[in-house]
Amino acid sequence: MRRKLVAGNWKMYGTLAGNADLLDAVRSGMEQARNVDCAVCVPFPYLPQAQQKLSGSGVKWGAQNVHQMDKGAYTGEVSAAMLRDFGCSYVIVGHSERRAYFGESSHLVAEKFLAAQRAGLIPILCVGETLEQRENGATENVVAGQLDALIDLGGVQALRDAVVAYEPVWAIGTGKTATSAQAQAVHTFIRQRIASHDGQTAAELCILYGGSVKANNAPELFAMPDIDGGLIGGASLVADDFLAICRAGART
Ligand code: PEP
Repeated sequence: MRRKLVAGNWKMYGTLAGNADLLDAVRSGMEQARNVDCAVCVPFPYLPQAQQKLSGSGVKWGAQNVHQMDKGAYTGEVSAAMLRDFGCSYVIVGHSERRAYFGESSHLVAEKFLAAQRAGLIPILCVGETLEQRENGATENVVAGQLDALIDLGGVQALRDAVVAYEPVWAIGTGKTATSAQAQAVHTFIRQRIASHDGQTAAELCILYGGSVKANNAPELFAMPDIDGGLIGGASLVADDFLAICRAGART
């Protein structure tokens, strides 16, 4: 059975002082939690703080973006090796906000994914459709294209030490959650698509759901057979809410 993962995505929120309380609360709240993996993906400047606060605990930390090159003259960018220097385990790539506001193509996202793995990080690859694409019946095509860009560039084996997060764009930060049946249907599609290349990789792959996951809907989502946890935005900024979602992951 796959172990559940609950990962927070803090986005561009927080302050040094506020984060300290949040990280302390998550650390102590997770002390007794044995059956779930937990991580927080924080803005770059807060990585040293996350490292200092979470080292030695069961809670991992990571970043929300990475540059696709290992090193070079790319002023303002951050490499995967730099993230490793600050103890990151994870990095989110291809979040829909990066695709929409920063023009990141699926090919570029695949390059970032592979750069993360070269440095020993676990990439969390976000995929998902817009509302218009869903209404046009294009959900599977869109998700397939986003996955195929990675498989074309890195081979299906790239998905062995990785996480995929299905995040329907219309559900992110909107309070509209996909029903557990809608989410399960896309998760099944993702697993089957990968299984058409390699059954074992597909069976072992951790596929998160993201999009307005809260403490009250997490249990039902996490009970679905192909939902292996969640990528949590807004609710990861409130310790009690995030911990309640983690506990839901531990129970299912
Ligand atoms: C996200 O940031 O990836 C996300 C899913 O946000 P929210 O939980 O707020 O919808």
